[in-house]
Amino acid sequence: MVNQNLYELGTKPSAIRELFEYGKKKAAEIGAENVYDFSIGNPSIPAPECVKEAIIDAVSNMDSISLHGYTSAQGDAATRGAIAEYLNQTYQTNFHADNFYMTCGAAASLCIVFHALTTPEQDEFITIAPFFPEYRVFVENAGAKLVVVSADIPDFQINFAALEAALTPKTKGVIVNSPNNPSGSIYGEETVKKLAALLEKKSAEYGHAIYLIADEPYREIAYDGVEVPYLTKYYKNTLVTYSYSKSLSLPGERIGYVLVPDEAEESREIYAAVCGSGRSLGYVCAPSLFQKVLVKCMGQTGDISEYQKNRDLLYGNLTKMGYECVRPQGAFYLFVKALEPDAAAFCEKAKEKNLLLVAADGFGCPGYVRISYCVDGEMIRRSLPAFEALAAEYK
Ligand code: PLP
Repeated sequence: MVNQNLYELGTKPSAIRELFEYGKKKAAEIGAENVYDFSIGNPSIPAPECVKEAIIDAVSNMDSISLHGYTSAQGDAATRGAIAEYLNQTYQTNFHADNFYMTCGAAASLCIVFHALTTPEQDEFITIAPFFPEYRVFVENAGAKLVVVSADIPDFQINFAALEAALTPKTKGVIVNSPNNPSGSIYGEETVKKLAALLEKKSAEYGHAIYLIADEPYREIAYDGVEVPYLTKYYKNTLVTYSYSKSLSLPGERIGYVLVPDEAEESREIYAAVCGSGRSLGYVCAPSLFQKVLVKCMGQTGDISEYQKNRDLLYGNLTKMGYECVRPQGAFYLFVKALEPDAAAFCEKAKEKNLLLVAADGFGCPGYVRISYCVDGEMIRRSLPAFEALAAEYK
């Protein structure tokens, strides 16, 4: 007899993965140029040159044991130190190597943090819709409960009244993701200050810290010069879960980190629990080669202007056709109101036109669909008549 929860997770396909597989099958049938696959958030721009150079340098000049051997459980001190230095220079923070725990990407970082903080069956984590659906899997697997605060439509900023109503003495943390998957919205300084003030007030009222978990794989993907405030500077009990999957276009290499700042309440205890969590989940020692590569790629990204061009192309054309959506400020998703109340039915109609869109029910936002525009711009151009024909069906 296997664990039934895990059996169900393993056999119930994610809607996004299912659509992605369907797209591959359909492309084999009718030609890849006739399928408009907007299902998955796989970066479409190449990793910056520094990645290739750093890999060549590492494999050419390092001895095999240093390169391919185990690193410290929490990651190389040199890598963690380089990240601290980069963040300190960029955001005027005061981090050091021992604030960081290297991981296999943001998914691992989140799992580690939820396990580290949770007293099973007691704690709750709040997230704000629309949210990355895997939060539910990760939080529940840690033995906590995920509480979803409804979206603030139409601009997908924080609905503070709903958030305040959801906070209770059981709240261990609030998860925020800005720039956001799937809405593309960014929380500006005013919002962040208001959030910090609310969490401080409620922490004082409950007599324990409410941690803010800043899930930031899209931090660098922001357009038109919009600033993404660095949350540890506004709220001391912030823990950051970061990943290089999107900024360096390295999702398959599985590299990221957890940041536990000194200012956080019980910082050293949390860091120790993060180490214990990594140990108990079997996540010690993130990929060694990519830890070395990161040191040479601090502050670099792929050519993000390509995503901005895609955003402009898609947003401009879809709004002209009558689709309702908020102009994304960052990440690489367009969040569009379905043209009928049932987003899944709308996505089925889109599928008949070989447009692969994801219904946002799993993101906590029924009636909307997510379009991932980390794709070739040519595919967007080819897809426009299909979007037009789809809209025409509802006129
Ligand atoms: N958090 C968000 C909001 C994401 O969109 C993703 C991936 O798409 C992740 C976490 C997981 O990222 P990683 O590939 O680094 O595990």
